[in-house]
Amino acid sequence: MIALTLPAESDADHPFVTRLGGGEKPTGACSRLEQFRDDRSVWCGDHGLLEIFHAGENVQGDVVLVEPAKGRVERLIRAGSRHNTLLVTEQCDQLCVMCSQPPKKTHDDRFEYFTEACLLADEGTLIGISGGEPTLHMERLLQMIEEVLDRRPDLFFHILSNAQHFGPEHALRLRDPRYRKVAWGIPLYSSDPVHHDVIVGKPNAFERLMESFATLFRAGARIELRTVLLSKNVADLPSLARFLAENLPQIEQWSIMGLENAGFARRNFGEMHLALPERFAEVAPALDLAVLHGIPVRLFNIPLCHVAEAYRHLAVASISDWKQRFATACEECRAKADCSGFFEWHPQELVNRVAPI
Ligand code: SF4
Repeated sequence: MIALTLPAESDADHPFVTRLGGGEKPTGACSRLEQFRDDRSVWCGDHGLLEIFHAGENVQGDVVLVEPAKGRVERLIRAGSRHNTLLVTEQCDQLCVMCSQPPKKTHDDRFEYFTEACLLADEGTLIGISGGEPTLHMERLLQMIEEVLDRRPDLFFHILSNAQHFGPEHALRLRDPRYRKVAWGIPLYSSDPVHHDVIVGKPNAFERLMESFATLFRAGARIELRTVLLSKNVADLPSLARFLAENLPQIEQWSIMGLENAGFARRNFGEMHLALPERFAEVAPALDLAVLHGIPVRLFNIPLCHVAEAYRHLAVASISDWKQRFATACEECRAKADCSGFFEWHPQELVNRVAPI
């Protein structure tokens, strides 16, 4: 697993954001490399000296938040990675049964640091935003997106949101051309309102979601719809495919995702998890319907050998590099480079159930 925080010592008396080394496009504070060894490096910049203990991790080009009092750096944007996500809040107004990042009551506002970090990213970087629920802090979030895209129109954002907080007042603002660089990843677990509300743990969430979709579509927003595969909702998938075709045909993509064994999902993983090697036939009809109706559908976080051969072209190697792992047997698989593999914390007995291609 790749470490996202590293021990560090700094001269500064307050937190700051810096980029470790220059780059093609950054506008702002970069630090210069002074010394490099296998296990540590020393950097010099506007905030004085910074020593990072990275034990073999390559940190050159990373954009980091340095927190001197905590003796650490947080790697907000890692150079060369396609999986950089800024967690803007841990608060959420839903309580999904399989939430991988259970919500907290308190909010630590770090938008200022995140804005600085985005401005230091490499040219053309896609930056993920997640939580908690980012739109609980809608004004701060939209201000950050607009400021960054004003100064760095080469960047892109993908924002995960439960879409419970958009209203007609947002339609005009989201029509701004800057939002063509922003895609919203929004979960919908069933076309049955009761089933969806039970899964997200919030009464009337489905109805509120549909109101938000009306605003987002009026604004021309780019939407990726996300459905986590659960034993609870697998029977609903064909109806959901028809529902999307009839009611939400404007979506850019429907992403059907494997369950992550983290957060709340750990408690009932055995009960909620769908064993795809045996049960893929229950998912296939929804994929067929989506394709038939012209809905771009993809499978995320699912190893290729758990997908029936005829549908493997729909699977994306999606698990973030810092939390991805493979079984020993995967070493002999010809498809490994295109395979999502498993989450680092996936149960070992399931990881062992691979069939090299
Ligand atoms: S054997 Fe491993 S690398 Fe090959 S498809 Fe299965 S999980 Fe992926």
